[in-house]
Amino acid sequence: MTTTTAAEPKKSSLKTLAGLFPFLAPYKTQFVLAGLALLVAAGATLAVPYAFRQMIDLGFGGAGSSVHINNSFLALFGVSCVLALSSAARFYTVSWLGERVTADIRNGVYAHVVEQSPQFFETTQSGEVLSRLTTDTTLIQTVVGTSISMGLRNTLLFIGGMGMMFFTSVKLSALILVLLMAVVVPIVLFGRRVRKLSRASQDTIADSSAMAGEILNAMPTVQAFTHEIIEASRFGKAVELSFQTAKQRIQARALLTAIAILLVFGAIVFVLWLGAQAVIQGTMSGGALAQFVLYAALVAGAIGALSEVMGDAQRAAGATERLMELLAVESPIQSPAAPQALPPRVAAGAALTLRDVTFHYPSRPQSPALTHLSLDIAPGQTVAIVGPSGAGKTTLFQLLLRFYDPQQGELLLDGVEVKKLALHTLREAIGIVPQDTIIFSANAIENIRYGRAGASDAEVIAAAKMAAAHEFIERLPEGYQSFLGERGVRLSGGQRQRIAIARALLKNPPLLLLDEATSALDAESERLVQSALEAAMVGRTTLVIAHRLATVQRADRIVVMEHGQIVETGTHATLVAQGGLYASLAALQFGLD
Ligand code: ADP
Repeated sequence: MTTTTAAEPKKSSLKTLAGLFPFLAPYKTQFVLAGLALLVAAGATLAVPYAFRQMIDLGFGGAGSSVHINNSFLALFGVSCVLALSSAARFYTVSWLGERVTADIRNGVYAHVVEQSPQFFETTQSGEVLSRLTTDTTLIQTVVGTSISMGLRNTLLFIGGMGMMFFTSVKLSALILVLLMAVVVPIVLFGRRVRKLSRASQDTIADSSAMAGEILNAMPTVQAFTHEIIEASRFGKAVELSFQTAKQRIQARALLTAIAILLVFGAIVFVLWLGAQAVIQGTMSGGALAQFVLYAALVAGAIGALSEVMGDAQRAAGATERLMELLAVESPIQSPAAPQALPPRVAAGAALTLRDVTFHYPSRPQSPALTHLSLDIAPGQTVAIVGPSGAGKTTLFQLLLRFYDPQQGELLLDGVEVKKLALHTLREAIGIVPQDTIIFSANAIENIRYGRAGASDAEVIAAAKMAAAHEFIERLPEGYQSFLGERGVRLSGGQRQRIAIARALLKNPPLLLLDEATSALDAESERLVQSALEAAMVGRTTLVIAHRLATVQRADRIVVMEHGQIVETGTHATLVAQGGLYASLAALQFGLD
């Protein structure tokens, strides 16, 4: 399915809109209501020219009485009332559908995207996803909320108007029909070009917002390197490119409009001229010609509207295609169909086993990040992982959380292979304190509650106390209600870590993964973080990427990694005595000789 090359233009353009069906299906009743309103409104519109003819031929033509005149005016007013009500009903139901379906698509796509594995986010920029969620769904909203209804209404008007034209004058209508055929070809040809250009235009907008997103997240770096002007002009170029692409699209569209209107109206004017001749010769009544003119105008309007609708529908087809691509992405990391349960939790924590694990990142098939790694950790043990940068320490954590699956070997949590557990079971059993804690734009209490949604305030505060975070939070301007996120209170590195530890404590997992911060903390923070960590390690198995002497000294075992392999294991004392890699690392890092 995804094997077709991107450059190959897809002929069945509008067919991609069929991808929207699953989103439309739940609203059958609303569709029926909208369809009814549409039918009535189109019928009323088509009745107007007929009522006019009656008025002219019977009323003004002098052939009828004043009763006739009254009746035909009354009928015209009645038709207007029906038209007004049914048009309002059509607008309401159809717009409602547009908004509803767009909201559903936004939710569906977002829910799908947040399920994706890190691999997806390595190759897809968040700005692009954002643009799809906003720009592309808005295009679909136009189609569902307006274009479908406009398309249907104008198709009805076209067919009905044509029928009534034939009813009025077969000769003139046949002539007009032949002329109109000639119009369809250029419209279709041009429609294709518009569609291709509209996809290109959407893509360039997504590119520029992805670029802006990345730069806005890195403002301090940008300014420190005085790259403001460079970045602004880079963005400017991307915007300019999207403008140029959009310009091509609107040019094609403008040309399409001109051609359509010119051909349609040209044909109509010509036929009308013939009609006028017929009236002069007395082979057609004035009322009949008026009726014919009105129907011709309806038909011409319908064709104009339909060509417009085609443009929108083609734009939306491009948008749908991109959204469907996004929805079709399957995360390579899935919960198994029949997940196993973890054995009952033991007080000491979880047991962890790695058997001959070999792994390379999907983007780097040539260089393995871990090779033949085996490790056994008993419940309750604290294992420190030490090694030079790039040794594979973080990768090990990624595999334990099952952000990636190893190509070879297996990881077992409490004797169960992690692949056989539901993803949420596995991840609920693991707490992670990362080097750099993400603080969300919320207050302190909610930021800690991120560890376990649904925890009570008292539980959150208890966790904060254990993590030595309570005191500094209390001292914030509004205590636990203080806003911490973007534009909120600035927290120091040590404070952020204690928030992260409080989250992990609140989660209370049997396995704790700690990535100690490399950045130095002042002595007081260091002491507080250390005591928080000690509290966090009680009653659980802990794996810690260690950067501090205190941590390695306290660990039950130290695992030394290099080039994705375990090169040494032992305690601090034995490893220093061995005089190997650990001894030299320790000398560098902890200043030991
Ligand atoms: P450490 O945490 O010990 O510093 P990592 O586990 O981060 O090391 O990295 C191990 C190896 O994997 C390194 O060579 C690194 O460049 C590579 N690596 C890390 N993350 C990725 C990734 N997302 N994609 C490709 N390669 C990666």
